[in-house]
Amino acid sequence: MLEGKLALVAGVANRRSIAWAIAQALHAAGARCAFTYQGERLEKTVRELAASVDSDVVVPCDVRSDADLDRAFGEVAAGLGGLDILVHAIAFAQAHDLQGRFVDTARDDFWLALDVSAYSLTAMARRAEPLMAARGGGSIVTMTYLGGERAVPRYNVMGVAKAALESSVRYLAADLGPANIRVNAVSAGPVRTLAARSIPGFATMEEMVAERSPLKRNIDAADVAKTAVYLLDAENVTGTIAYVDAGYHAMGM
Ligand code: NAD
Repeated sequence: MLEGKLALVAGVANRRSIAWAIAQALHAAGARCAFTYQGERLEKTVRELAASVDSDVVVPCDVRSDADLDRAFGEVAAGLGGLDILVHAIAFAQAHDLQGRFVDTARDDFWLALDVSAYSLTAMARRAEPLMAARGGGSIVTMTYLGGERAVPRYNVMGVAKAALESSVRYLAADLGPANIRVNAVSAGPVRTLAARSIPGFATMEEMVAERSPLKRNIDAADVAKTAVYLLDAENVTGTIAYVDAGYHAMGM
C-alpha cells in the first residue's frame, strides 16, 4: 500500500509504544522508516527495534529543542533520501499533574505539557513541509485521546494539551493542504504503554471501556496502527480525527 514511501516515526520508547506498532505496520505496507528517540537512555532499544524493520536511520531528538529538531530533520532527510510520512506519537506531562485537580496546574508544568504534547506537532510539520512538498506531497498522523474533548478524571493538563493538538491538526491541514500534505489524528482508547502507566487509574479506564463501549472490549496498539496506516494512505482525508476506542466515544453513559 505504501510501497517505497519514506517515513519518519517519532515516539518509539520500547516495543509497547504505539509508535512502534505503527512502524511495524508501515514496514509491512512497504514503507521505509527512520526513527527519532528522546535521550541516550532509549537509544539501544530503538536501534534494535529499527534494525528489525531494516532501518539504521535512528537519530536523537528532544522536541523541546529547535536545534535538535533542525538537526534531526536534516539527518533523517539525508538518511532516507526524502520524506513522505511523519508519525508523531509524543506526549509528556509531569506525573504530579496526572493526579489531583487540574485547577492546581502550575504555569511551567502547563507549558511543558503543551510544548511537548501539542506544539511539537507544529514544529515537526513545519520542518517536514519542504521535504514532503519536494516529493509532491505527504501525510502526517498524530495520536490523541478523548480527554481532549471531555473532562476525564486525572487526565488533567494532558487533556488540555490534546485539545490544542486536535485543533492544531485542523489548522495544519488547512495550511499544508495546498502542498498536498494531509494531517490527521487517531483518538485511541487506553493502550498499556510506558506513558499510559504514568496515568493513575489507568486500569479503571480500561475497565470502563470493556464495560461501556459498544464493542465491550479494549483495543491494542496494532488496532491503532491499522487506522494510522489507513489515514496515512487515504488520499482525500485530512483534518480529521478517527476514533479507535471500540466505540466508547459514542456513548453518553
Ligand atoms: P510511549 O511512552 O511509548 O510513547 C511516548 C513517547 O513520547 C516516548 O517515546 C517518549 O520518549 C516521547 N517523548 C516524551 N517527551 C519527549 C520529548 N521532549 N522529545 C521527544 N520525545 C518525547 O507511550 P504511547 O502510549 O505509545 O504514547 C504515544 C502517543 O499516543 C502519545 O501522544 C499519547 O498521548 C498517545 N495516546 C496514548 C494512549 C494510550 O492509552 N497509551 C491513548 C491515546 C493516545
